[in-house]
Parts: sequence; C-alpha cells; structure tokens
Amino acid sequence: MKKVYNFCAGPAMLPVEVMQQAQREFIDFAGLGVSVMELSHRGKEYMALAAEAEQDLRDLLNIPDNYKVLFMHGGGRGQFAAVPMNLLGGENKKADYLISGVWSKAALTEAHKYADAVAVEGVTKDAQGHFTVVEKPQFRADAAYVHYCPNETIEGIEMFDLPDTGDIPLVADLSSTILSRPIDISKFGIIYAGAQKNIGPSGLCIAIVRDDLLNQARADVPAILDYKLTADNDSMFNTPPTYAWYLAGLVFKWLKRIGGLEAMDKLNQEKADYLYNYIDNSPFYSNNVDPKYRSRMNVPFHLANSALDAEFLAESKAAGLMALKGHRIAGGMRASIYNAMPLEGVKALVSFMDEFAKKHG
Ligand code: PMP
Repeated sequence: MKKVYNFCAGPAMLPVEVMQQAQREFIDFAGLGVSVMELSHRGKEYMALAAEAEQDLRDLLNIPDNYKVLFMHGGGRGQFAAVPMNLLGGENKKADYLISGVWSKAALTEAHKYADAVAVEGVTKDAQGHFTVVEKPQFRADAAYVHYCPNETIEGIEMFDLPDTGDIPLVADLSSTILSRPIDISKFGIIYAGAQKNIGPSGLCIAIVRDDLLNQARADVPAILDYKLTADNDSMFNTPPTYAWYLAGLVFKWLKRIGGLEAMDKLNQEKADYLYNYIDNSPFYSNNVDPKYRSRMNVPFHLANSALDAEFLAESKAAGLMALKGHRIAGGMRASIYNAMPLEGVKALVSFMDEFAKKHG
C-alpha cells in the first residue's frame, strides 16, 4: 500500500490502528456474526459499547458529573442553531459572539435567527500585519451566554487562554481542537465538536452540557437538537449515528493507550513546533499569525511566489502528501495536523517543502 499522509482539515485522517481494528471487526463484531452497523442501538451489545465510549471520553477529558455528554447529529453547524435554541427560551435573548474567524462568524450568523446576538472583536492585525488575538474582550454584563471558537480551522488561529466571562456561561466550538490537549471542562457551560477531525468520522457531533443549562430551551426547539430530550434519552431519542459512535469509541481507546491527553498535548506541540520552525526559517514560506496564537492543529502557509502554488500541490500530492490546498477563503496552503497525524507525517511534509524550495528558490 502506498504511504499517504492526509492533511485534510476534515474529514481528517484517523489513526491507522483504529481503522485496522474496525476492518477486523467489520463484518463480525464481537463474535455476533454481524457488523456493528447492523446492530440495534437498543440492543444490549450496542448499548454497552455506547456507554463505554462515553465513559472513555469522560475519563480522557475528566468531565465532571454535572455535565451531560450528548452524541448528536447535525455537525458543528447543527450546534450553531442548537446553542441559541436551547439557551434562549426565556426573556433574555442576548448572546455575545467573540469573532476570531470564519467559523465563529458562521455561528453568529445562525444565532441572529434566534438571538439578540452581537459580535465582539476577538482578532485583529498587529504591526506586522499578522493576525493576533484581542487580549481582554468585553462582553455585555447581561448576556445569556458568550460563544467562541478557540481554534479557527481556516485562519489557523488558536486561543489558549479562556476569555473572561465572569458568571456568564461560556460556550465553545471545539470542533478542530477537542482532545488535542487537556482542558478544564468546569470552566465551560457547553462545549461541542463535530467528530470529523479529532473524534472519528463525520455524522456525529458531541456536545457536553452543564446540567443547569438543560432547562432553558425555546418551546419550538426541534427534538433532534433538544439537549434535555437528548440527555433524558441517553442520546437515543432517535437512531444515533451508530457506526460513527463506535469508531469514536475506538479513537478514545487509542488515545487512552497512547497516554491520554497529556501525551497527545506533547506530541501535538512537537509536531506544530517542527513545522512552524521550518516555515519561520525559510524565506520561501510564511505564516501570517502571531506566534503566540498559532493553531497547533491547522497550519496555513503561503509560498512567497504564489505562481508556484499549483505546482506545489501537484508535486506534494505525487509525493504522498494529500490535501494541502488552503481553504478558498484564505488561499495558499494549509496543513491540518490533528491528533492522528504522526510526527513522521510532519517530517515528510517539511522535507518535501525543503526540496521544493531548493528546486524553485
Ligand atoms: N466549527 C469549526 C471550528 C469547523 O472547523 C467546522 C468545519 N470545518 C464547523 C464548525 C462546521 O462543522 P460541520 O461541517 O460539522 O457542520
């Protein structure tokens, strides 16, 4: 088999071990003679698997007991609607959105349908023209919640410190950074993440919701997005994305095997440092984010001569480095180096970049 490293922003690569296990079990799960995909979600075998996956996620993230873990449909964008619909059932419709890039803006756009939602500037440009994070964003004291996206997948901006919202519940879109390092869940009201980057395949979305936020929904929230209903039914009010949930469970086991989020954190730092160091020391490539706020998951970069972009993409693909094209909004290149990307993949990318620069520099 040809060795390919996939730098796609999502759906992203999965750990090879996980896929090999899924392959072994594909048509005969646990000796039952059928695939996991063919099991009833209400049968005891599937229920056990589902509960174990939840427990493993709770262990990995150290999720306190007063938080529900919900396995939902609808991806990140489903949550863009679910958050205001579940939190703004009362009189107060105020919601502040910290804007740091495309995805936080998209969340705000959706929230406008249900909320008195306002944008709070979270990112600006520094003297060098690099993106940098606004240090102390101010929120309305009576906002019902503050939403932010600590890792902007397209711009490659990551906020490592939490915005200070006082007692206002903080809601975080962790789609592209969940499980990449330990976090203190107790600081959040809600976190959510589409699965297709660090959790498993697309089709599954995980929301972690503090208990006291389960009783504030609008009466017209669709059942499929209703946190309380989902929690009361152990995420099985309707048929959940069973295969994606199973695969997520395998990813959680893999994370536990390799040493949990502390080990992942170290490896992710090492990978990101390796790539940014190379970029910073090459006149051929550049990254336009303040080093303090560079994403460890999504590394956008530009070639000094953009006329070479197409050639860079064609040659990198031929070298087994897949999906390096930047988002159409940002242009240039982007290497997404989520949890499943091994250090060897990043090293292979850097040696390709170096050869390319020598050839064309
Ligand atoms: N939030 C972030 C940070 C994302 O990166 C994405 C998708 N790339 C989304 C939300 C949207 O997720 P989905 O496609 O699952 O709706």
